[in-house]
Amino acid sequence: MKKYLKLIPVILFFSCEKSINDYAIVIHGGAGTVIRENTPKELQKKYEDKLREALEVGYSILENGGSSIDAVEKTIKILEDSELFNAGKGSVLTNEETVEMDASIMTGNDLNAGAVATLKTIKNPISAARAVMEKSNHVFLSGEGAENFAKEIGLETVNNNYFITKNQLNQIRKIKENKYGTVGCVALDKSGNITAGTSTGGMMNKKWNRIGDVPVIGAGTYANNKTCGVSATGWGEFFIRNVVAYDISAMMEYQNKTLEEAAKISIFDKVGKMGATGGVIGIDKNGGVMMEFNSPGMYRGYKTENSDYVIKMFGD
Ligand code: ASP
Repeated sequence: MKKYLKLIPVILFFSCEKSINDYAIVIHGGAGTVIRENTPKELQKKYEDKLREALEVGYSILENGGSSIDAVEKTIKILEDSELFNAGKGSVLTNEETVEMDASIMTGNDLNAGAVATLKTIKNPISAARAVMEKSNHVFLSGEGAENFAKEIGLETVNNNYFITKNQLNQIRKIKENKYGTVGCVALDKSGNITAGTSTGGMMNKKWNRIGDVPVIGAGTYANNKTCGVSATGWGEFFIRNVVAYDISAMMEYQNKTLEEAAKISIFDKVGKMGATGGVIGIDKNGGVMMEFNSPGMYRGYKTENSDYVIKMFGD
């Protein structure tokens, strides 16, 4: 009997390590003042439909045995092509009323990463980030050089006006203050690989080629198969200073925190206490999904092997 008692801790250990979901996907479309009372029903439906469309694209890739990097890139492209979010078309405007976009992607099996900053004509910045990772010897390209690289490898380009929507022009002319949005996606595929990606137009009214946390690996985006994948949204300067995405992974790795515990500490005790708002989404190595924010709302959703589609916007 004694012999069998010894086995109990071993059995418990293995059951803790058991995967919750073999594959899963989670997205965000930015955190901020997303409040039910200020959102007309039709607009709410538009957001929900677009988030669902993006999730469906990524989830079907994972379900059919595709890679998490394909799922993340394709999902983010849907959100970049939509005017509703602050990424690609519909990005917030700079002080000069132009669009400058940042994006990054990271794969958790090899800690490989690609990032781009201040893009002006590349239609899908997330694809440029992936290309930097896969087709260059570098991790992070910016400005004109990043544009030239993306053009050389044949990515689609458009005039800067393509990204500018009437809505964003009205916003900047009306307010000329800092505002934020952003899109992101984390996916876990059937091979156990986690990918995280984030894409943004940055902060409204930004100047001087300001670059936020989104293309900074470890701040806005991080993935490590040993722990989790994370994509962030919020006041970028504070996410850089707190190295948010990596910090969450590090708390899991070195302090045995769960993804949810680590995310809460980062968003509420660190970023929040400095006076900034925002949120994070993530998936841990066992397929557990996390969505945490300290702002009134965050466009967000997920679908796992064992759950239905879940799509939310408001704080409730
Ligand atoms: N984090 C982004 C930035 O600071 C903005 C956002 O997420 O809304 O550029």
